[in-house]
Amino acid sequence: MATDTVTPSSAEDVPAEPGGTPQTDTDAQVESKSGYRQPQVDVPALTRLLDGKYAEVRNLVRTNLAEYSSILEDAETMSTDDFRERVKDVVVEMASTGQTGMGFPEEYGGGGDIGASIAAFETLAYGDLSVLVKVGVQFGLFGGAILQLGSKHHHDAYLEDLVTGKLMGCFAMTESGHGSNVQALGTVATYDVASQEFVVTTTHEAARKDYIGNAAKHARLAVVFAQLEVAGESHGVHAFVVPVRDEDGNVLDGVRIEDDGRKMGLNGVDNGRIWFDGVRIPRENLLNRFADVTPAGVYESDIENPNRRFFTMLGTLIQGRVCVGGAGINASKVALTLAVKYALRRRQFEATQEDTEELLLDYGMHQRRLLPLLARTYALHFAQEELASQLHDVLSGVVEDEHTQRELEARAAGTKALGTWHATRTIQECREACGGAGYLSVNRFAALKADTDVFTTFEGDNTVLLQLVAKGLLTDYASEFSDMDQLGMVRFVTGLAVETVIERTAVNKLLERIRDVLPGGDEWDQEAGLLDPDYQLAMFRFREEHVVSGVARRLKRGIDRGMNPGEVFSRVQDHVIAAGRAHVERLVLEAFTAKTAALPDGDQKVALNLLCDLYALSAIEADRAWFMEHGRLSVARSKAISREIGSLCRKIRPIADELVEAFAVPREMLRSPDLLEWPPA
Ligand SMILES: Cc1cc2nc3c(=O)[nH]c(=O)nc-3n(C[C@H](O)[C@H](O)[C@H](O)COP(=O)(O)OP(=O)(O)OC[C@H]3O[C@@H](n4cnc5c(N)ncnc54)[C@H](O)[C@@H]3O)c2cc1C
Repeated sequence: MATDTVTPSSAEDVPAEPGGTPQTDTDAQVESKSGYRQPQVDVPALTRLLDGKYAEVRNLVRTNLAEYSSILEDAETMSTDDFRERVKDVVVEMASTGQTGMGFPEEYGGGGDIGASIAAFETLAYGDLSVLVKVGVQFGLFGGAILQLGSKHHHDAYLEDLVTGKLMGCFAMTESGHGSNVQALGTVATYDVASQEFVVTTTHEAARKDYIGNAAKHARLAVVFAQLEVAGESHGVHAFVVPVRDEDGNVLDGVRIEDDGRKMGLNGVDNGRIWFDGVRIPRENLLNRFADVTPAGVYESDIENPNRRFFTMLGTLIQGRVCVGGAGINASKVALTLAVKYALRRRQFEATQEDTEELLLDYGMHQRRLLPLLARTYALHFAQEELASQLHDVLSGVVEDEHTQRELEARAAGTKALGTWHATRTIQECREACGGAGYLSVNRFAALKADTDVFTTFEGDNTVLLQLVAKGLLTDYASEFSDMDQLGMVRFVTGLAVETVIERTAVNKLLERIRDVLPGGDEWDQEAGLLDPDYQLAMFRFREEHVVSGVARRLKRGIDRGMNPGEVFSRVQDHVIAAGRAHVERLVLEAFTAKTAALPDGDQKVALNLLCDLYALSAIEADRAWFMEHGRLSVARSKAISREIGSLCRKIRPIADELVEAFAVPREMLRSPDLLEWPPA
């Protein structure tokens, strides 16, 4: 159990909270005592670090964004119909620069580099997000499905035209009745052996396709996910290419399309509903990389288990999820750039001087609101960079082992959830930090808020995604992992000894190792310095291990008492989600710590270490009730962490402008003349 011993830290420089002993050292005194020197930030160098391997690609996108910057205003002034056309035109024009096709094979006009395509997409999030999402639908979802689920003849038939934007398509998976539970889709594709065709049918009203991007107006083809039936036998969900419009844009016979209408945001994207009434498509339109039907009507697949086949198919589509997570992180950068820059010019109330009002960013509370979010944005950026690089390796065939692939799927799910929730939270906080000015559309927040909101839902609902992360943790991505639905997972976990689950998490071993390097043995949580990265990692690892093993214990106890597995799972579900979240937060910290550790000594390293410490301590502070409940944080140490966060914020304050400047959001994308410059030009 932790005691009230607190390792002295540089944070002991402010009056303690009411009732405490005032400590009067100034930051400067503390800094000179500790040898700390305020770093200078070389902005272009930091931008180079952030842009990483794909700086050239990111700069191409920045240039394109600046060129089409008038679209930000068009979003406010044009009718929905006109804006949708404008967005489509911009997407097609951007396609001609090669920006949107980087992930496709070179022989079809693509760039042959998946990492580059993710970098391009992330950077596009600095601009209008209808353009981003239309790109995501056309090249990521529609194009990605053809590329990943189809075989050569599908590639030959469609890729070249879809890469240029000449052939527009949509990805029709979700139905009104089922979104997250894709295996329960109601659309059916029945094989007719006489004509060697599939007959695609919307079997009931809730089986209509819904929210489908590009469907209401522009798609000529749809990749439709439907239950495949051959000779009266169902083989589960498969994907089919179904023409929905002719070249002139007329909806084809047997297809009905309805506009979803105005949405909360993203109104430049034409989302719609689709019904199929016995639509006939050739046998070859089944995207048959993982399963096929012979002309004579024999179903064939190398993957025998239907669940595994289904999850393998979906697993190939995770690039979209990775892209949306990255887009959320980059949208946060736009919001933070605006809010930090505004706080560096906006003054309210005389506080420290009689005749000059204080800059907003000199208020402790304002620092507390914005700078931990800035630190978390940097942390997520580096975690996303690592994820994108792993995805590149897996999809390019550099890494082929199944365990790594499954780990990657879980990591993609978790990073998407954290990145997009972070965007929603950051954009709201930044809007408020800009006061009334933040509410004016010209200052970007209206669009940022409305357009990013749904990032938490599409490409997988965040809560459902964190369950997927926890499932991987609890089963250690066992070979049976892909075959398991929710109940299968409960049965699997409860079939193991709890110790086995804990051992399998691997966090346990990491924690052991970290205890060895920290002072204090089992008392590491009291002896180590708050700014010691090993201490911070140990706290994150301890939490993950504890939460995961707690879930395993609770699942097992429920089953041992004879409860229904579904009921047990439901009762511990909040705990399951907490396990997923703790795991991803740990991965994020590890990515950030590794990045800073690899930097050469110098100011850049010092600056990034400040951010890394702020991310880690803010996350511990946010969950301090949990750490205290579990005996890993004493009251005194918890207070010391809060003081240290204040100190870190004050150290980051002088370099805050450079830290947001390094995101290199093109000036045209920020708009906000009154927020950024005063008096107006
Ligand atoms: C603007 C927009 C664009 C879209 N574009 C496309 C597209 O192009 N193609 C496409 O196929 N789809 C698209 N979608 C659909 C999107 O992917 C789905 O909305 C999403 O997957 C969520 O499904 P759902 O709406 O059915 O929500 P549900 O699955 O019904 O979820 C509703 C709520 O219930 C919770 N929940 C669900 N299951 C569980 C559970 N087991 N345990 C606990 N809680 C649970 C969720 O967390 C969520 O909060 C789009 C949606 C929107 C809004």
